[in-house]
Amino acid sequence: MLTGTELSVARASRGFMPDDEGLALAQAAAGADVSLGPLLEVGGYCGKSACYLGPVARRLGTVLFSVDHHRGSEENQAGWEWHEPDLVDPDVGLMDTLPVFRRTVFDAGLEDAVVAVVGHSAAVARAWSMPLSLLFIDGGHGVQPAADDYEFWTPHVASGGLLVIHDVFEDPADGGRPPYERIYLPALKSGRFTEIDACGSLRVLRRR
Ligand code: SAH
Ligand code: MG
Repeated sequence: MLTGTELSVARASRGFMPDDEGLALAQAAAGADVSLGPLLEVGGYCGKSACYLGPVARRLGTVLFSVDHHRGSEENQAGWEWHEPDLVDPDVGLMDTLPVFRRTVFDAGLEDAVVAVVGHSAAVARAWSMPLSLLFIDGGHGVQPAADDYEFWTPHVASGGLLVIHDVFEDPADGGRPPYERIYLPALKSGRFTEIDACGSLRVLRRR
């Protein structure tokens, strides 16, 4: 589903996606029924997950929309655990991952398959109307952003489409809980989704 070169490009790119979970993400995408619609990720950051999803999207004859305001999540800001100081725009004093994202997508040869949508996730989701064959949620991990991504994005997953969630930690000792409590559990409890695969903190659900 990814060539050896595509896989090494994805693995070498900057970001927060362990190799095995990236592969599981690409595998899930390869099983998407793109007659339902395109793929969309919430949380593009520096383009790593786009390097796993983009080549699959192209092979399936569709595109990956990558939604991010590119200002970083709470945990990416100065003083937090996942902060990378070179990603701050010194003139603005805020993070700006868009230049790195663009460069990553260019270097990976994915400009025809990956479409950046720059904006606040909930604002984009509220205006969105296209059904999705796969939704990958890897955006803000605070309570509110996670709850908003669940509320505003998951209705766009087409019936038979896939919902993939990253950083799902059942045990608080392993990581923050909002993706688990505010996205994964509500999706299952809603009765709209069934779990079909899991790898590390990645969960793959299918909409009934
Ligand atoms: N998928 C990426 C990692 C994403 S990190 C990878 O593979 O490396 C989470 C991203 O979500 C950050 O880039 C941050 O800017 C974005 N984000 C957080 N909250 C957001 C919001 N409310 N709207 C848009 N983007 C958001
Ligand atoms: Mg993540």
